[in-house]
Amino acid sequence: MNLSQLHVLIVGGATGGAATALLLARAGARVTLLEKVAQPRAVGAGIALAENGLAVLESVGLGPAIAAHGRAVGIPAIVDARGRRLLAPPQPTPQVRMFRRSALQGLLLDALAAEPRIERHFGAEVLTAERDGRLTARVDGRSVEHRADLIVGADGVHSRVRASGNFGAHVHAPGIPYLRALVDVDAAQGVEAWTGAGIFGSFAVEGGTYFFASAGARACRRAIEQRDLPSLRAVWARTYPPSIPLLAAVRSFDDLILNRVLRVECRQWVDGRLVLLGDAAHAMAPNLGQGANSALVDAAVLLDELRRAPDLAAGLDQYQQRRRPAVAHVARTSANLGALAELTNPLARWLRDRLLLPLASRLGGDRTSRVMQETTATLLAIGRA
Ligand SMILES: Cc1cc2nc3c(=O)[nH]c(=O)nc-3n(C[C@H](O)[C@H](O)[C@H](O)COP(=O)(O)OP(=O)(O)OC[C@H]3O[C@@H](n4cnc5c(N)ncnc54)[C@H](O)[C@@H]3O)c2cc1C
Repeated sequence: MNLSQLHVLIVGGATGGAATALLLARAGARVTLLEKVAQPRAVGAGIALAENGLAVLESVGLGPAIAAHGRAVGIPAIVDARGRRLLAPPQPTPQVRMFRRSALQGLLLDALAAEPRIERHFGAEVLTAERDGRLTARVDGRSVEHRADLIVGADGVHSRVRASGNFGAHVHAPGIPYLRALVDVDAAQGVEAWTGAGIFGSFAVEGGTYFFASAGARACRRAIEQRDLPSLRAVWARTYPPSIPLLAAVRSFDDLILNRVLRVECRQWVDGRLVLLGDAAHAMAPNLGQGANSALVDAAVLLDELRRAPDLAAGLDQYQQRRRPAVAHVARTSANLGALAELTNPLARWLRDRLLLPLASRLGGDRTSRVMQETTATLLAIGRA
């Protein structure tokens, strides 16, 4: 279909929404972007983008900005608390770059501001969206109505667009909290360690180190409930000594970002003129680092299918048919990996490390292409067409 006839409302201006706005606007659509935060700044600390997400950003001309802000880290090795490798990296090994979330958000916001076909409304909180293309937002305490041919819900795990439509959505809370932080010391290990207290990973980012830890073990949970940074440091120091300089560089408990992982599954991603993408459609466990990457792939595939289709309904249907199974596989694999990583029972960990992981490594196969979901060449071609 000819996108120059299409007016699209995009709800949410973070990774998924910004990429969708850029791709659709450059393909000729008229785009209005509504973001509830008046002055967006990145929530979170660091983020890894793999070659699928990087290809989407590169396709909209952000290659130089990516090279300037993202640190190439290769695929993170999975090791035990003593640094012994547990799981061989998948083959072929995909390219991965680590960003400060603020840098990634900043480069997307600059690109949105430079695109004349995108009308941006910050401080516009969407309240409801209808399947006929009408939407209500709250701006400065007033209700504002919009209408468009298509409404894209890129409004994250607590999506209002999803809540407004009929998507058969189910939100699971697997329970394990994660903590993340950015510190300005250079003490990254460049690996993810699966330890007796859970996961601890640390990676270099521009000007410092990004680290994350799961907090499933009882001692970690207790320290977090009591906001007790010295106890948290002590638990990790006993379990995983490379954590010592990183947790020592955290000035106060408030500098730690805590997330409880939520997973979203939807029976369908399309309802009339409403379509979901990113976390709104499929928030997943973070263990494969594919949540934001998948949101970027969604954006590219949505454009591709709209362009190929005879009309809007057919394009949306093709989008969900192509994306839902691919994402379901990644979400399932990520959840399974998380469950294995977070084992704290010593016997279960012994069996995992001595039997299961060596077996998984030997099975081989092309694990990478299913996790990347679309080839780099396809994603580059969609955005550049
Ligand atoms: C611990 C952890 C680590 C992770 N690490 C990685 C990683 O390394 N790599 C990776 O690819 N993914 C990672 N993820 C997942 C990743 O953060 C998400 O998948 C990604 O941010 C989803 O992007 P999104 O644009 O769909 O949603 P979001 O980033 O949640 O953005 C939604 C946007 O919509 C706006 N919004 C919400 N409601 C409204 C409303 N009603 N009206 C208007 N605007 C609204 C919000 O303000 C926000 O700007 C991680 C997640 C966690 C929890």
